[in-house]
Amino acid sequence: MGGVKIILVEDNPLNMELVTDLLQTAGHEVLATSKAEEGLAMARIESPDVILMDIALIGMDGLSATRMLKEDPATASIPVIALTAHAMRGDEEKALRAGCVAYIAKPINTRTFVDIVTTYARASKPHEEE
Ligand code: MN
Repeated sequence: MGGVKIILVEDNPLNMELVTDLLQTAGHEVLATSKAEEGLAMARIESPDVILMDIALIGMDGLSATRMLKEDPATASIPVIALTAHAMRGDEEKALRAGCVAYIAKPINTRTFVDIVTTYARASKPHEEE
């Protein structure tokens, strides 16, 4: 199966590098940015198969960005997976209520991360099954 296109919004440089490396090694295309505003613009232009959204960001936070993605008909159908450090009680519920399809706590589990992301990405484009 071919790779999928992923937008990663993450302002922690080490985590951005780790996530990008894992996904690229698995054959996927990764477009990364540290800013939610830039992620929103990229989503409209690139039509990714999935968006990985850090919740705690400088400037616009990931939950606000996810709500905007879900309100825009051009991006509403793109699955958004929340990423967050220091997982707190209630975070997952907040992420799902903002429109995320799933929630991954950091530090990520490198054995399962790619499979989770790929599953949601492929589910978003069933018409392109090979
Ligand atoms: Mn962050």
